[in-house]
Amino acid sequence: MRAIANRSKWLFALIGLFLFGLCILGYRFFTNAEGWTGMKYNKHLFESGTLVSGGKILDREGVPLAYNEDGARRFNDDRAIRMSTLHTIGDLEGYISTGIHARYKSVLTGYSYIDGLYNTVANGSGNDITLTISAELCATAYRALDGRKGVVGVYNYRTGEVLCCTSAPSFDTRNRPSEQEVKENDSYEGVYIDRFVSGEYVPGSIFKIVTAAAAIDNIPDIYSQTFECDGEYNIGEGIVKCNGVHGKISFEKALSHSCNCAFAQIAEQLGNQKLQEEAEKLGFNDSSAAGGNYLNFTGNKIDLSKAKKLDLGWAGIGQYTTKVNPCRYLTLVGAIANGGASPKPYVVSKITTSSGIKVFSQKTKLMDEYMSGETASKLKKMLRFDVEDVYGDWSFPNLEMCGKTGTAEVGGDKRPHAWFVGFSQREDLPLAVVVIIENGGSGSGNAIPVANRVMQEAKKLYEN
Ligand SMILES: [Zn+2]
Repeated sequence: MRAIANRSKWLFALIGLFLFGLCILGYRFFTNAEGWTGMKYNKHLFESGTLVSGGKILDREGVPLAYNEDGARRFNDDRAIRMSTLHTIGDLEGYISTGIHARYKSVLTGYSYIDGLYNTVANGSGNDITLTISAELCATAYRALDGRKGVVGVYNYRTGEVLCCTSAPSFDTRNRPSEQEVKENDSYEGVYIDRFVSGEYVPGSIFKIVTAAAAIDNIPDIYSQTFECDGEYNIGEGIVKCNGVHGKISFEKALSHSCNCAFAQIAEQLGNQKLQEEAEKLGFNDSSAAGGNYLNFTGNKIDLSKAKKLDLGWAGIGQYTTKVNPCRYLTLVGAIANGGASPKPYVVSKITTSSGIKVFSQKTKLMDEYMSGETASKLKKMLRFDVEDVYGDWSFPNLEMCGKTGTAEVGGDKRPHAWFVGFSQREDLPLAVVVIIENGGSGSGNAIPVANRVMQEAKKLYEN
C-alpha cells in the first residue's frame, strides 16, 4: 500500500509540473507570439530585414499610400505624396519608429492568436488601415515648405482627426539615402524623426498665448491695464528687447503686436509659480494624454523653478528653456477653439480585414480640459483680433482665422524659427493648424503664407 501511495504522489507531482510548464508556455505564447512572428527572420513577412507583406494603408479618400503588389511593398506613385506622408506611414526598414509600419506591424501583417499568420500567408495580405490624413493636403504642405525643415499639421478640433502632418526633411522610399549620406549631409539632419509628434522647439511668441491665459485667470484688471514700450524693458537684472516701439499699449494690442515689453511685464506680475501652474494646466509637463490608438506625441516642457527675474521675463515671451511639440501645441489652440478641451489627435480612423470586415473604428475622445469655457472664449477673441488687427484677413481669405505668429530666436548666428498656430472659427470648418519652419525667419512673413496655403486646400475637403 505504502509503495502505491508513494508512486501516486510522484505521479501527481509530475502532472503538476507538466501543467505548470504548460501554463508558462501558454503565457509566453500569448505575450511573445506576436513578436516572434513579427521578427525580421520570418521570411513570409520580411526579406533581408525589410517588410515585404502587409495590408494596405489608405488616406481618408481611399488613396493607397502603401500596399502590396507582386510580392513587394510599394508606396504611392506621386513623389510629393510619398515624401509628405513618409513619417506618418513609416519606412519598411523600421528607422522611423513612430510610423504606422512600425506601430501597427502586427495589424498590417494580420497576426491573430487563433490562426497566427495563416490568413496572411494564405491570402497574401493582412489588415487594411485607413488614415484620417489627406494625401493631397500633405503633398500641398510639403510643397509649401519648399525644401525647408519643419512641420505642418492640421486637425479637426471637434473630432481629433489629423488631416495633415508633414515633417521635413524627408526622403523618397524609391531613392533611399545611404547611411553615409544621412550622417554627412546636413539636409538630412533628423530625417528619421517625425517632427510633428516628436519635435521639441523653442516656442517664441506663440507662448504668449500661455502667458495671456495666465493673465486672464490671475490678474483681475488685466484688460484695463496699459503697458509702456519704448523698445526695451529693464527688468532689473537686464533688458528684454522688443521687436518695435509700441508706446502705450493695451493687453489685447500687446498680443496682436506681440509686444515683448508688455509680456515681460505681465510675466513679472504673475511670478514664476503662477505662470508655471497655468502652463501645467494647459498640458505642459504631462505626457499622459498620448498613446494607444491616438497619436503618441511628446510633451511640452516648462521649468521655471530656477528662473531669475530676467529669465522669467524671457519665459513670458517664450524665450527661456521652455520647449513645445507641434502636435501638443496644436491641441492647445484646438482647445481654445473648442471651448476649453481638445479631442485627442489621431491618424488611424479604421482597420478592416482583407475580406472587408471592420475590426476597429476610431472614436473621438476629449483630453483633460485645459481651461474654462470663459477663458477659452476670451483667448479666442484675442486670437481673432490678432488677425483682424495685424496679420490681416487678406492673409487668410474666407477662413475667419484666429491665430498667433512666433519668431523664435535659437541662438548663435542661426535665423529664428518661424511659427504660426491658429484655427478657423467657421462652424463649417473646424480646423486648427500649426506651422513651424526651422530657421525660416519671421513668423508673419514665412509661416503665415504656408498656413494659408494649406488651410485653403483643407477647406476644399469641407466643401462637398
Ligand atoms: Zn513692444
